[in-house]
Amino acid sequence: MVPESYAAATTRVRGSKSIEHKQLESLDGSRIVNLDQLQQYIDGLVSHARQCQCSITLNGETRNGLASILSSYCTSCGHRAVLQTSKKVKGPNGYQRWECNLAAVWGQMSTGGGHSVLQESMSTLGVPVVTKSSFIHT
Ligand SMILES: [Zn+2]
Repeated sequence: MVPESYAAATTRVRGSKSIEHKQLESLDGSRIVNLDQLQQYIDGLVSHARQCQCSITLNGETRNGLASILSSYCTSCGHRAVLQTSKKVKGPNGYQRWECNLAAVWGQMSTGGGHSVLQESMSTLGVPVVTKSSFIHT
């Protein structure tokens, strides 16, 4: 069931920066998706579809910079599935980081760019970016 409130909310996850939750109706733009992650998500949906007369609906997103966790559910049985658009890897400080955020920061550092250059580039594509604080701490 789709929640009635579509307002974005901010929450804090243990050991992480604040992240943003949105319901599907407020989602827009584009995302960068790791293809291995997408294939696993599709495999899970196909497996579920073999057992259920279903219709899968995308109903929410938790964003953390360039990475998103997209939520979906089966309108027939309520089965829930998530797609993490990026893998997590160990960052230079030993903490787990979203691979796409780490790559974006490293890419900017290696080309002499910074948060504002990354933000400008991604905004033309409609892709949300990491906050400046997260960029600095990645
Ligand atoms: Zn189902």
